[in-house]
Amino acid sequence: CGIVGVVGHNGAEGFILEGLRRLEYRGYDSAGIAVTDRGGALHRLRATGKVQALADKVPAGLGGSTAIGHTRWATHGAASDDNAHPHKAGRVLVVHNGIIENFKTLREELSAEGRSFTSQTDTEVVAHMIDREMQAGSDPVAALKAVLPRLEGAFALGVMIEDETGFIMGARKGAPLIAGLGSSQGYLGSDPLALSGHAEQIMFLDDGDMVVIRPGSIDVFDAHGAAASRKLVPAETSH
Ligand code: GLU
Repeated sequence: CGIVGVVGHNGAEGFILEGLRRLEYRGYDSAGIAVTDRGGALHRLRATGKVQALADKVPAGLGGSTAIGHTRWATHGAASDDNAHPHKAGRVLVVHNGIIENFKTLREELSAEGRSFTSQTDTEVVAHMIDREMQAGSDPVAALKAVLPRLEGAFALGVMIEDETGFIMGARKGAPLIAGLGSSQGYLGSDPLALSGHAEQIMFLDDGDMVVIRPGSIDVFDAHGAAASRKLVPAETSH
């Protein structure tokens, strides 16, 4: 339902929780966050109910730099901690809005390869598919690029890789997603409201776009995987 992401922040978890609170008005049944703390350790926390229930689980003083967060409105699998996002496979963490229509076929394919699932969501297959590409030798950008054409349905994705604090990734097809820049931060959000007061510039993405967001820079690839450029607009005039 709601996606927020950040890279290059000093206190990423606080920014994500604030963003998730701003998206509460859209409705949700659970929330979650993945954040890399200042020592490089990953924390993945999820809670059913209010964003406050999630905030209560986040240890104080993480000083995170890189994080993704989500408010979930369940479509596949009950509202539970295990079904809440981010989902994780190997080093890959994924948050997702919308529906992966062909997830059953994909899940059967992945199960046949010996992969096991910890949720009933359509989302978890995406984490496994990216992880599978990386296990086969692809870098994270190539891995996401290879997976996107296989996903049917309308969706927005936020992706981060454990141990890689230098970037986050996003993709959209039939669901809203924007990127943003600060002086030394990069942002991802399903709604400009989540980035307001933080991002100095906002980038609206075309349908089918994929983005790699680093502190101070955004690389865009179009629906065919070709490098593309999209306009950055000052955040104050973006909505
Ligand atoms: N289909 C996903 C799920 O049920 C995402 C739902 C959403 O947009 O929050 O977990």
